[in-house]
Amino acid sequence: MVGPASHSHRPLARPTMPARFDPHLVNEPFADPGLYVDLRFERRALLFDLGEISALPPRKLLRISDVFLTHRHMDHFAGFDHLLRFLLGRDKVVRFFGLPGLIDAIDAKLRAYTWNLVAGYDGNLVLQAIELQAENRLAIAEFSGRSGFVRVEAGSRSIEGDLLLDEPGLQVRAITLDHGIPVLGFALQERAHINIWRNRLDGLGLAVGPWLRAFKDAIVCGDPEDTPISVAWSQETGGPGSLPLGQLKREIMRVTAGRKIAYVVDVAFTPANLAKIINLAQGADVLFIEGGFLNADAADAALRRHLTAGQAGTIARRSGVKRLKTLHYSPRYQGRGNALAQEAEAAFRGESTCLEPVAESTRQTQ
Ligand SMILES: [Zn+2]
Ligand SMILES: [Zn+2]
Repeated sequence: MVGPASHSHRPLARPTMPARFDPHLVNEPFADPGLYVDLRFERRALLFDLGEISALPPRKLLRISDVFLTHRHMDHFAGFDHLLRFLLGRDKVVRFFGLPGLIDAIDAKLRAYTWNLVAGYDGNLVLQAIELQAENRLAIAEFSGRSGFVRVEAGSRSIEGDLLLDEPGLQVRAITLDHGIPVLGFALQERAHINIWRNRLDGLGLAVGPWLRAFKDAIVCGDPEDTPISVAWSQETGGPGSLPLGQLKREIMRVTAGRKIAYVVDVAFTPANLAKIINLAQGADVLFIEGGFLNADAADAALRRHLTAGQAGTIARRSGVKRLKTLHYSPRYQGRGNALAQEAEAAFRGESTCLEPVAESTRQTQ
């Protein structure tokens, strides 16, 4: 537990609901982009982009439960075969989230191989392809190893706004951005933790028990402050059978905001993209963002619908993120990665002149 009070206010237990993120880039910044987010307490991991992933050891590949694809340029999708081959014959479900066309793309990848033996494997690998379509609808198809990875349409459902994944412990938001083609940008948000301080409970004479669950539920539900919460005392003659929710909140708990990270790659520096990214990444603990060209080569970056390092830093600053990590460096700067990182960092700290996005009308075309 971090925080100034950690030594004196020992939390009752590690929060059970939210997961703690452990994000790290799959490769060094000149290699294929990809972000691996280990959910330490859930024995699973999320992967953003699926380019070259041979740097991930087997135990990390095994934990992948969900893959989020920004788009299907090869450097973001060519690792599909690597993952498939590794997971084949294991009892596992992996979900793939992406733009329309993903179901066909995965179907085509699977149809490229012969599967006459796969039905006899011990475990059944199931791949779920989930497309984010217009009007916040998800289209879902399933490919099961048991049946030779034959595509089965699994219906569609709507989502709330840009909320691609909504679980008790975390949320993933997705927005569509412009890279000459549509691409997705993602934000992963951990839910807030409710910590109960054991020594404060002891100090009040309250006992640990199931009533704490009901107390937490009342907080999550936003019940009024005067709601009576049934409590348990460590001694028979401890006190009243219930205490007001507001008093308990003040005296025995602390809410820790959940971490937020954002992942944005392969986007043009346009006003529309900027507005959307800044909204998505607002206040994130870490923004992972492409920044693979120097500002001096901004015209080349614009031609390829990519950001420069300086532009990435500007976006990070305007988003009010705490930390910036750039990736997806162009091979032309091999050996000069520091220059890219420094340019981004300088713009992030506001030490360089602010760049303005290129308006749609003046933008170079491919
Ligand atoms: Zn691309
Ligand atoms: Zn790319």
